[in-house]
Amino acid sequence: MLHDQFDIEHLWHPYTSTHSPLPTYKVKKAKGAVIILEDGRELIDGMSSWWCVIHGYSHPVLNEAAIKQIEAMSHVMFGGLTHSPAIELGKLLLEILPPDMEHIFYADSGSVATEVAMKMAVQAHDNPKKTNFATIRSGYHGDTWNAMSVCDPVTGMHGAFGPALPVRYFAPSPKCGFYDEWDDSDFEPMRRIIREHADTLAAVILEPIVQGAGGMRFYHPQYLRELRKECVANNVLLIFDEIATGFGRTGKLFAWEHAGVQPDIMLIGKAITGGFMTFAAVATNRRTADMISNSQSGVMMHGPTFMGNPLACAVAIASTRLLLSQPWQQRVKEIESIMNRELAQTRKFANVEDVRVLGGIGVIQLKEDVDLASFQERCVEEGVWIRPFGKNAYIMPPYMAVTDSQVEYLCRALLKLVKPV
Ligand SMILES: *Cc1c(COP(=O)(O)O)cnc(C)c1O
Repeated sequence: MLHDQFDIEHLWHPYTSTHSPLPTYKVKKAKGAVIILEDGRELIDGMSSWWCVIHGYSHPVLNEAAIKQIEAMSHVMFGGLTHSPAIELGKLLLEILPPDMEHIFYADSGSVATEVAMKMAVQAHDNPKKTNFATIRSGYHGDTWNAMSVCDPVTGMHGAFGPALPVRYFAPSPKCGFYDEWDDSDFEPMRRIIREHADTLAAVILEPIVQGAGGMRFYHPQYLRELRKECVANNVLLIFDEIATGFGRTGKLFAWEHAGVQPDIMLIGKAITGGFMTFAAVATNRRTADMISNSQSGVMMHGPTFMGNPLACAVAIASTRLLLSQPWQQRVKEIESIMNRELAQTRKFANVEDVRVLGGIGVIQLKEDVDLASFQERCVEEGVWIRPFGKNAYIMPPYMAVTDSQVEYLCRALLKLVKPV
C-alpha cells in the first residue's frame, strides 16, 4: 500500500529509471511540519519539500487566499491584461527585494526564471560576442537546458548532456567558508576568468552565500563584494539566484544581505508561494531593464502562457505577508542554534567530513555517497523525512511551522541515520 504499483510502472519521479525506480512513499495528507503516509504513519518533514514549504503544509491562511482567488479567477492571460494580485505582489516584492530592483518578470518555475535571467543578460548587452556566462562550481540553477549548463559539471547533469550543452566558464567553488577568515586568493580564479573573457561574458550567475542542491556549501560574503567590483569594472552583469535562499532560509530575508551586495538581476522562487504551488520571479535594476529596452529588439523576448498567474500571485502575497507578520528572523535563529547544538556531536564520527549550519539549514557532509533507497527506508522507520543528495545529508525544516522538539527529533534521527554501525 505504501508503494503504489501503477506509480512504479508508469510514473517518472525526479532522476529515476523506469527499470529500477527508487521506492516512493504514498502520502495521504500533510499538515504543519508533518507528512502523513497512506498507512497513517507520520513523518516530521526535514526538507520543506525542497526549500519551499516554509509555513508548513496546508496552512489555513494560504488555503484561504487560494480559495478566495479561485472564486474571482484562477487564471487570465498576462498579454494585454493585468490584475490586482500581480500588481499587489509586485509592490510587496519591491519593498523587500534589494533597493535597486525596479522591474519584475513573473515566471512559472525556478528553472524558467534562470532561463529568463540568462536571456535578459544576453539581450541587455545586445552584442553578438557578449553571450556567455561564468559561474562557480557546486552551483545549482535548475534542470532546463541553459540552467543545466551553469550547474556544477560534476554533481549536475553535464555527464549525461555534456556535448549538447553550451560551454560555460567555471571558477572553483569558494574555499573560504561563511565563518572563516577571508583569504583574497579565494577570488583570484574568478577574477582571472572575468578579466580574460570580459569581451564574451554577458553575466556571472551564482547563488549568493549558500550553494544549495549543487553542494550545500556556505561561502564567505567577501567573495560577493569582490565579484561585484569585478563585474562593474568589466561590463559583466551579475545574476543572483536566490530561488533556494530567499524568504528567510539563511537567517536574512534574502542572502545578498549577508554581503550587502546588490545584483543586476535576481531570481526568486520556491518559498515565494510558501510551497503552495509553482511560481518564480526575475527582478532587475533599472539599468539592466534600460539596456534591454534600448537593445535592437527593444523588448524582453519571453512570455509564458501562465505568466503572472493570479492564483500563484494571490498565494505569494498571503505567504509573504504571513512571513513578515511574524518574528521569522528570531525563529530561524532559534532553529539554527538547536541544529548547531544537536548536530555538533556528529563531527567525531569517522564517516563525517564536515558539519555546517546556517539559518534554517543543517548539513552533515559524509565521506562517501549516501545510499538513497536504504536511507529513505530507515528515515520512514524513524518517523522523519530527509532526502540526502550525494555525500550530503541535510535538514531544512519548515521554519515557521516546526516546534523546538520537532527540530530536536529531526536532528537526533539524522544523527542516528548517519552514525557508523
Ligand atoms: C530549485 C532551484 C532552481 C530551479 O527551480 P525549479 O522550480 O525546480 O525549476 C534554480 N535555482 C536554485 C538555486 C534552486 O534551488
